[in-house]
Parts: sequence; structure tokens; C-alpha cells
Amino acid sequence: MGQSLENIQQQVDQLRQQIEEYNYQYYVLDAPTVPDAEYDRLFRKLQHIEENYPTLITEESPTQRVGAAPLKSFSQVTHNSPMLSLANAFEQTEVEAFDRRVREGLSVSEVDYAVEPKFDGLAVSLRYEKGILKTGSTRGDGYTGEDITLNLRTIKTIPLALSVGNVPDLLEVRGEVLMLRADFIRLNKHHLEKGEKIFANPRNAAAGSLRQLDSAVTAARNLVFFAYGIVANEDPCVPQDTHSAIIQYLSDLHFPVARECAVVRSCAGLLSYYREISAQREQLPYDIDGVVYKVNSLAQQARLGYVARAPRFALAHKFPAQETVTRLLDIHVQV
Ligand code: NAD
Repeated sequence: MGQSLENIQQQVDQLRQQIEEYNYQYYVLDAPTVPDAEYDRLFRKLQHIEENYPTLITEESPTQRVGAAPLKSFSQVTHNSPMLSLANAFEQTEVEAFDRRVREGLSVSEVDYAVEPKFDGLAVSLRYEKGILKTGSTRGDGYTGEDITLNLRTIKTIPLALSVGNVPDLLEVRGEVLMLRADFIRLNKHHLEKGEKIFANPRNAAAGSLRQLDSAVTAARNLVFFAYGIVANEDPCVPQDTHSAIIQYLSDLHFPVARECAVVRSCAGLLSYYREISAQREQLPYDIDGVVYKVNSLAQQARLGYVARAPRFALAHKFPAQETVTRLLDIHVQV
């Protein structure tokens, strides 16, 4: 027998409340209490109900929003272009459905995709004016982030001045800050010895280290940065045709980019890239939680556009849950 709309509304309210609590722990406190897989399960359950009962969707639903509001202790930065999330897929059938939607949306029979590892860190935006790093911020709620310029300046792989290649007057680079696994283990060991709070995983350690009011703390944490995009820029020195050309341009400007970036064709190309990176995952010095597929042509990206919290032209294909994260969470809970 079907459930009454009242029961469903009640279930939706409970899910939203629980997800918002987890969001707060994860994005604001940098201290999750459940593994990502459990969070993802609840999030998808909510998405599924909302798909079946669209009248229950509200603007405040976590499915319509990104991240969490910035902390008051930092000054705020309004992003010139929103920093969104990515649609997620866990199953091959969902990747096939994504490729089908893209082909149908573009009325083409085959699509080229730029493919990259999905870094499990913290999204940041770096604003360069006349080639000089002026502002660095967190994603926050996607529209307003925290001004963490001083902390980002301590990361040695982030260029403070762009002195090679052609640079537009204004360039906004988007990327991810990570903590290497070896540094994460060292940091937690040190904290355990001193009886201080330990971090659940490298992602939370990176976020906690970056959102510090004292940049000397960030400097001591040895964080790394990888660039994966720029805000649309019509300056002629910036590539205008493909995402892969933008990645090359960023690399030419001396931004670190993933070595594993590639261009593949069709769904078969996406799935074989996923298998290839899955096999390399353990050997990487940092955590990745999946791979990201992006339609390579920027003109095609523009035609596909955006839904509420994510672009239609990109997909995060996530790996199954990793046990180590759960074990570290267990330690965290026991301490
Ligand atoms: P997401 O992490 O699934 O995907 C979007 C993010 O991917 C972007 O903001 C960007 O930072 C990142 N990214 C990494 N590599 C990229 C690349 N190559 N190109 C583009 N972007 C790249 O979405 P989200 O909104 O950041 O976070 C949601 C996820 O966070 C959940 O699915 C869950 O796994 C986790 N989470 C966990 C809890 C918890 O309590 N455990 C709570 C909230 C969120």
C-alpha cells in the first residue's frame, strides 16, 4: 500500500534535518560523525523522494544547495561565478544515463569528455589581478565563501605571481586543497600524543588546517593544491575551445594539475578511465573519491548549462566507500 503524502512529508523533513546536521558537522566543524557513504545514502534517498514528489521540493532543501554558510570569524568573499557541486553517480547505469542525456541535449551521437581524478579535499578559488594573487576563498555556500587568502599564501605550490605565459588582467582559478596521506597520519599521531582532537580523514584535516585564523598553523601543515578549472574568461590569451586546453594553460602557468587528466570518447571511454584510475587509487599519495567527467567542448558545456546546484555537463563518478575512512572515524569516536 502506498504511503500518505503526510507520511512522506514527515520522512522528507526528517531526512532534511539529519542531512543539515551532517552538513554542519562536515562543512562548518570539519568533523563528520558518519562516513561519506552513509551521508550519500541519505542524500540520495531524499533526492529520490523529491524526484517522485516534486511538489515537496523547497528552496531550502539540501538537494538545492551547496556546502554551508561561511563562518563569521572570516571575512566573506562573494564569488563572481558560483562554486557549485557536481552530480554524483555510483553505478555504471547512471554513467550511461548521463552520457545519454548529454548526447540528447546536444543532438550528437558521440561526445568527447575531459576526465580527471576527483580530489577529496576542499574547493578553493584563487583570484589573480594582473597576475598577482589577491584573494583566496573557500566555496562556502557556493555564492559566498570565507576569505582565507593569508592561509592559501602559505601553500608552496600555489603561485603568488604568474610570471610565465600570457596572463589576463583578471584570472580566477578553481581547484582543490589536499593533505597528503603521509602528512595526515603524521598529524593525527602527533595530535593523539598530545591528547588533541584528531581528524576523521585527510579531507577534514585539510579543511581544518586551511580554515585557521592563524596562518602559521596552516603553514605548518604542508598542504598541497591542484587546479581543475577557471571561471569563464573571454580574454584572448585564455583558451576558449576546450576544457583540456584550459588544464594545459593552467599547467603552463605553473599551477599543479593532475597528471591523470585525459580526454576520452563516449561512455565506453568514461568507464575504462574509471577502471584505470580505480586501479591506481591506492598508489596515489592523496585521497581521491572518484573521477570527474566533463564535456570537453566549452561551447557544448554552455549549451547544456546548469541545474540547481550542479552543471549538466559534468558528473562525479564516485568510488565505493573506503573502509579506512570508517576505521579512522571509529578511532575518532573512541577518543
Ligand atoms: P562533491 O564532493 O561530491 O563534488 C563537488 C566537489 O568536487 C567540488 O566542489 C570540488 O571541490 C570537487 N572536485 C574534486 N576534484 C574535482 C575536479 N577534478 N573537477 C571539479 N571538481 C572537483 O560535492 P560536495 O558538495 O563538495 O560534497 C558532497 C559530498 O561530501 C557528499 O557526497 C559526501 O561524500 C561528503 N559529505 C559528507 C558528510 C558527512 O557527514 N560524512 C557531510 C556532507 C558532505
